[in-house]
Parts: sequence; C-alpha cells; structure tokens
Amino acid sequence: MNRLNNKTVLITGATSGIGKSCARYFASEGANLVLFARREHLLDEVKNELKKLTEGDIYTSPCDITNYKNVQQVVSALPEQLKKVDILVNNAGLAKGLEPIADGLPENWDVTIDTNVKGLLYVTKEIVKGMTERNSGHVINIGSTAGHDVYPNGGVYCATKYAVKAITQTLRIELVATSIRVTTIDPGLVETNFSNVRFNGDSERAKNVYKGITPLTPDDVADAVLYAATRPPHVSINEVILTPVNQANSNFVHKVKAD
Ligand code: NAP
Repeated sequence: MNRLNNKTVLITGATSGIGKSCARYFASEGANLVLFARREHLLDEVKNELKKLTEGDIYTSPCDITNYKNVQQVVSALPEQLKKVDILVNNAGLAKGLEPIADGLPENWDVTIDTNVKGLLYVTKEIVKGMTERNSGHVINIGSTAGHDVYPNGGVYCATKYAVKAITQTLRIELVATSIRVTTIDPGLVETNFSNVRFNGDSERAKNVYKGITPLTPDDVADAVLYAATRPPHVSINEVILTPVNQANSNFVHKVKAD
C-alpha cells in the first residue's frame, strides 16, 4: 500500500532494531524518509536496502541526538523538499548497565539520560516548531513498559522512560488546540541490539534476556507505529503497550526453562 505517499517521516536511531524496522515499514507505504543515527556506514546500508522498497526520497544524516548543536545543524541542513516533517519517530535510545543505584556508574547514567531524555527533547523541539507553524504533524515516541513500572537494577533506564511518558503527555496538552498528534508506543521485551548495548557487547548475557520466551520482534513494534500513523486525521492513538504474551509487565515474565 502507499498510504503515506508524499509524507516525510523522520526516524531517529534507524541503523538497528525498532528504528530500522520502522524505516522499512514506512518505506513500504511510499513515505519519504529522513534517517538519523551515529553510525554512517550502517545508515548507508539501510538506505541501499530501502531504495529497493520505495520510490520516495531517502535521506540519511549522521546525527548524535545527545548534542543539541549537532541536532540543530542536521535539521537545518535537510534538503528543501524534506524540511516539512509530517511524522517524527523518536526511537533512538538505550540502556547502559543493570545495577543497583548504589553500584551504578555515573557515566552510564549520563549517556542513558542524555540519549533517552535530552536527545528526544532536542529533536522534538527542532521538529515540532515547523509542525506547529503548519498546524500539522505527528510525534511518535518509543517509550517502554519500563515507563509504566520499574524493575530492580533498572532505576535510571526506567526513570528515562517515565520521563518519555511525561514529555509525551505534556506535549499532547501543549498541542491540544492544533491538529498535531502525539503518540507513545511502549514495548516490553523486543529482541534487538538493545541488550548487547546494555551489557557492553556481552552477547551471551544479552541472549539470556530473551531465553525461554518468544520476544517481540522489531517488526511487531514497527507495525504498531505504522498503525498509529495511518489512522484518520481526527483519531489520536495516545498510547500503545505491547508485550510478548508471556510478559505481563516489566517484572512478571514467564520463561520456559530448558531441560
Ligand atoms: P537498538 O537495536 O540498540 O537500536 C538503538 C538505535 O538508537 C540505534 O539505531 C542507534 O544508532 C540509535 N542511537 C543510540 N544512541 C544514539 C544517539 N546518541 N544519537 C542517535 N542515535 C542513537 O535498540 P532498540 O531496541 O531498537 O531500541 C530502540 C528504542 O526502543 C529505544 O528507545 C529503546 O529504549 C526502546 N525499547 C526497546 C526495547 C527492547 O526490548 N529492545 C523495549 C522497550 C523499548 P547508532 O548506534 O548508529 O547511533
């Protein structure tokens, strides 16, 4: 289907996992894509793959969302025909470490808070300005079940996802008199590179997170994002929580033990 022909979609963190799946889903709907992430070689790979799916424009730019000046530069350097962003998917995010607060590393906290909270705010500020001027647009944040209930040793990551929920709800109030929609899509366990990043490349530990359960795939989340983005203009999908069937919330996960 080509439900998003001529629409421009900006996705942060499009080199991996959920962001990359969202890029594929939006490409297959004919949207023009603006893709940000830090790893330029992976952005090139994604662009080459997506070119086969769509005739829409695909524009990639390295961007570190934790650096406000960098965000301002890359947004102001967008090609003229892609400056009017219709849909912003604030997806880039991470967790670093899984320790009690007393044992946590402040450098891990800084990168987690800078990315998930400040980075999301920086991109939102730069893009929502134009949406407000045009009285049109849709902001879709990728939150988490970690923004609904906390889990042991996840204090800082959970705090950032509670913040995403607070920012989403505030933005929706601020924009209530406009035609701009604000959505949060909040997944539970999704198998991506997320746990590898969290455990600093310890792939065995990362794999264990998803052992004994069928986790969500990045496509499951992209499907929910696309659903929210393709409702009629008078409908706002405010919040979607999706988990694997055997996950009730952040803490209650039923895992089948291997014999
Ligand atoms: P992922 O596979 O590790 O992807 C994370 C993406 O974020 C990468 O493309 C990465 O690209 C980008 N990124 C990280 N820091 C960035 C920065 N400073 N500037 C720009 N881009 C940055 O993880 P994922 O699971 O798809 O995570 C996507 C979102 O889903 C995150 O917000 C995460 O909190 C949320 N989420 C994940 C799960 C899960 O179980 N996986 C559950 C709930 C919510 P570069 O490294 O190239 O910059």
